[in-house]
Formats: sequence, structure tokens, C-alpha cells
Amino acid sequence: MPNPWGIPKDIEDAVLKRDHHCVYCGSEFSTERAKKKSWEHIVNDIRITSLDNIALCCVGCNASKGSKDLVTWFNSNNAKKRGITSETIADVVKSALNLKNSPIVK
Ligand SMILES: [Zn+2]
Repeated sequence: MPNPWGIPKDIEDAVLKRDHHCVYCGSEFSTERAKKKSWEHIVNDIRITSLDNIALCCVGCNASKGSKDLVTWFNSNNAKKRGITSETIADVVKSALNLKNSPIVK
């Protein structure tokens, strides 16, 4: 899997160890086109390459999110159609959405 983003190797390794499922929909990665893993910037700023912004998500979620803002996408019908809820997202995404210590949104 190429890493075209200049993500530091130690971050890359840590993320590969941490994210075994899509951080958004929770799918297990596979070789199937839409379930392949891809590098994701949770907040769409390629300058942020810290562990709390770099994650692995499936190609399907990556394509659906595109360049949309995380909150906008999370609350969109596209995300709902993919079955993405506060139940399926990984902790790292919850933190980014500030959901971690708050009651479940909708
Ligand atoms: Zn996904």
C-alpha cells in the first residue's frame, strides 16, 4: 500500500498496528475493491500527520468522504447510507468529533 502523504514511518507503523478495521464503517479490510485499506486524514489537512489524524479506512468510505469536512460528512446521508454511526467509528474518530465523553449524537 503506497503512502504518498509523507506520513512519518513511526506514525505509519503505529497506525497499521492500531487500525485493523475501517475507522469509519468498521469493515474488515479485504482485497475487494471497496474494502481495500487506504490512508486517511481524519481532518482534511495533509499537514497534520500526527497519530490522532492519520488513520486507515476502506476505499469506499474514503471515496464517500472525499474532501468533505469530517463533521459534515458524518452527518450526511452518504455516511448514513454506509451505515456509519457513532457505534461504528473508531475511538480516534470519536475524539476528532468530540464524541468521546458526550452522549451519543442522534
Ligand atoms: Zn469504511
